[in-house]
Amino acid sequence: MINNPPRIINLGSGSRGNSTVICHDEKILMVDCGFNRKQTLLKMAAMDLNPDQVCGILITHEHGDHIKGARLCSQTMDAPVMATAGTINGGNLSILNNQTLRCSETIDHHGFAITTLKISHDTKEPCAFLVETAGVRTLFATDVGTIEGLDISLMTDIDYLYVESNHDETMLRTGPYPAFLKNRIISDGGHLNNRQSGVLIKSLAVQSPHLKAIMLAHLSHENNEPEKALATARQHAGDLPGVSWDVARQNEPTEL
Ligand SMILES: [Zn+2]
Ligand SMILES: [Zn+2]
Repeated sequence: MINNPPRIINLGSGSRGNSTVICHDEKILMVDCGFNRKQTLLKMAAMDLNPDQVCGILITHEHGDHIKGARLCSQTMDAPVMATAGTINGGNLSILNNQTLRCSETIDHHGFAITTLKISHDTKEPCAFLVETAGVRTLFATDVGTIEGLDISLMTDIDYLYVESNHDETMLRTGPYPAFLKNRIISDGGHLNNRQSGVLIKSLAVQSPHLKAIMLAHLSHENNEPEKALATARQHAGDLPGVSWDVARQNEPTEL
């Protein structure tokens, strides 16, 4: 029985920065650090989060919207950057206090069991993370280029699901982006649209009988709207009784 369940708080999500924290037992694990140090500390303060409690900074991949504050926050918080070798290399994070993670492996870090999961994205060694603490399992999966071939065999028994729902297909197709950028977003190295997100959620929900909440994340500012993301993802995810849905916002923290 959990007296004190973990809190999962998204500090902000979208192409201008991504960062989420899991807090339990006076320890905080950060997933991505895509805001600069000042912004990160301000966002944490707004949610009453003590940066001295951060025990690790997980990084999914080396794009700027995921690593912008990693170096300085790691120093300020005296917390290791934890990422795959490709991400450490690609993000030039190798001079830091860091810990290399391997895909498909689980490590224990200050009471957080962290499983690193391979995904497709246009960086060196991108990954998703499944984090378990106090018996609560949370999957963080953003910047997922494609769900084809995605190995979900380790993504089981999820309680909280933080998953990309980047764009609406029609808005992207008819929107202002140049063709090369549209093609990059649609490609296997790009981002999931709302429909793909729903399809992924459906397959994860089948193997997660205790799924409690879903937060759609990394929404495109130009090519998506929260209402569209929710409506389309829910339509394709099918009926999930008792599961709550929300959308992570770029500029305001949201608790899962
Ligand atoms: Zn990315
Ligand atoms: Zn991103």
